[in-house]
Amino acid sequence: MIEVPSRVDAALYFTERGGRVFPLHGMCADDGGRLVCTCGKADCRDAGKHPMAKLAPRGLTNATNHEHIIRHWFTVAPFANIGLATGRVVVLDVDPRHGGDESLQALEAEHGPLPHTCRALTGGGGEHILFRPPDGLEIRNSAGDHGGLAPGLDIRGTGGYIVAPPSLHASGRSYEWSVDHHPDEAPTAEMPPWMVQALVHPGGDAQRARNPSEWRQLVAQGVADGGRNVGVSRLAGHLLRRYVDPGVAHELVQAWNLARCLPPLSPEEVTKTVGSIARKELRRREAQHGSRS
Ligand SMILES: [Zn+2]
Repeated sequence: MIEVPSRVDAALYFTERGGRVFPLHGMCADDGGRLVCTCGKADCRDAGKHPMAKLAPRGLTNATNHEHIIRHWFTVAPFANIGLATGRVVVLDVDPRHGGDESLQALEAEHGPLPHTCRALTGGGGEHILFRPPDGLEIRNSAGDHGGLAPGLDIRGTGGYIVAPPSLHASGRSYEWSVDHHPDEAPTAEMPPWMVQALVHPGGDAQRARNPSEWRQLVAQGVADGGRNVGVSRLAGHLLRRYVDPGVAHELVQAWNLARCLPPLSPEEVTKTVGSIARKELRRREAQHGSRS
């Protein structure tokens, strides 16, 4: 039987390596044996993932490396999940339900395999891949292809956190280190340059600040291997943000991909990326103008 370390020991393991932690609500069995979030809401939509306000009223802001505070928190709440603040370590969060596996596969095919680094399995079928940001560079949070990398790939950086091993996921499985990628054997590698570039000059919101000549250049010159996914995302986002009809934007990006990407991405991949950006743009508009009934 595998011995699971206490939450106190597990939390201190992170602080000994420069991390800061805070308590999240955990998952416990109710009277009927069903796993529920310790916040007590039967229909909690963020079960096992949100800050335990009773102990850390300011959530992530309360993240600390002080041993006595951590001992107190995880002794009072021995089933609390562990929130690990990100920023000094940046986490690529692969969510297979939103196409993260395929996105990562496509990016690795373009850029080569990711460096050997520590990885955790999330208990929900996803994966957390840990990187160090380059010296002096701040990597912020981003979600999917909205200012981030690609569908199903979120980034947890400055101002974010992850649920860390051995926390218990709502599925009933624990977050655990991936075999051969335990931090003891796999020190956190530096984030590969192509990923840094995609995140520091992302599509999404940041593209409002781009000047027109950059767009003309992208459209006229296209992109090679390394930047095709990012190029398709940016161009689709640029058109949709300007209220070009999604069907028209889709056809234009398909044509651009065939004419200017070297070699072109598959039409299916372009369709998937444009569709995903269109859904995000729709959600952005609904958030901005109130949802339509
Ligand atoms: Zn909850």
